Amino acid sequence: MAKKKIGFIGLGAMGLPMVKNLIKAGYDLTVHDLNPQPIEEVVSLGAKKAKSPADAAKGVEVIITMLPADDEVKAVALGPEGVLEGAGKGSVFIDMSSIAPHTSKYVASEAQKKGIKFLDAPVSGGTVGAEKATLTIMVGGEKVLLDEHREILQTMGKTIYHVGDVGMGETVKMVNQMLVGINLMGIVEALVMGTKLGVEPEVLYKVIRASSGNSFMLDSRVPNYIFTGNFTQTGFAVDLLRKDLGLALESAKVNKVPLSLTAQAYQYYTRATAEGLGKKDMSAVIELLEKTVGIQVRGKAD
Ligand code: NAD
Repeated sequence: MAKKKIGFIGLGAMGLPMVKNLIKAGYDLTVHDLNPQPIEEVVSLGAKKAKSPADAAKGVEVIITMLPADDEVKAVALGPEGVLEGAGKGSVFIDMSSIAPHTSKYVASEAQKKGIKFLDAPVSGGTVGAEKATLTIMVGGEKVLLDEHREILQTMGKTIYHVGDVGMGETVKMVNQMLVGINLMGIVEALVMGTKLGVEPEVLYKVIRASSGNSFMLDSRVPNYIFTGNFTQTGFAVDLLRKDLGLALESAKVNKVPLSLTAQAYQYYTRATAEGLGKKDMSAVIELLEKTVGIQVRGKAD
């Protein structure tokens, strides 16, 4: 069977490597982004350039979006020259951005009015997972629809879960992000404390990795970001994590769930944004505490 034609919108830190994997797998891609640079890069690999989201959605069977937050998804999906203006009846819209579950449901219901089906399929695994096509993808929507599009998702991710109706993918992602924010805040405090007390950062890392304080986040952030002090390389921006924690707090308010640690983590990353670190990788929050106590957690990983 011929591979489905795909329109892809949002070629940032995540979207660009995801598009490259789709091109490598032989999909016919039409792409759009406000930033011309990644577009030029993938056009040189064979993708077609669209002048708007509507244009990217025209004549394709599947439209994928990988955008920063709710406002961008709403503008790209529902705005003038948006996806729903261009997409044909029977096409499928897969939003892979991390946004509020209620926004996914709203976009899905607007899509349905035009005969367009919708899946929310946010991801976890970072830019390395996007490059290596090892992302975890959590999908909300009709299971049959997921099964029909599993091959496309498998080109970008390794583990694909169906987690419920539309909005449930985003719900699971939001819960995961609570742990990302809280866990990283803990790592930052622990490493700054140990270093201030005179332990070599390399020793701290080596011993914690082999002890009960170990975590996925420790390996993902200490060697490449914290030890090198290079927080401007491609990663997961402080602003994006702050957005994710904000979504969890909004939902907690509506559902009357007390979330003390998430609230604290939100303040932590808000301070980082206010101090100009918003575009840096989320691990840059360590710079604030390092400055406060006058040390730096730098070193080399084995
Ligand atoms: P990013 O900011 O690097 O990329 C977003 C892209 O969308 C940019 O290229 C931007 O130009 C484009 N864009 C914004 N508004 C647009 C519009 N109106 N029309 C067309 N293009 C537009 O963000 P990212 O790191 O790739 O993250 C994308 C989503 O994936 C976010 O929701 C984020 O929370 C989530 N996510 C990111 C990571 C990560 O490690 N970076 C991991 C998992 C999930």
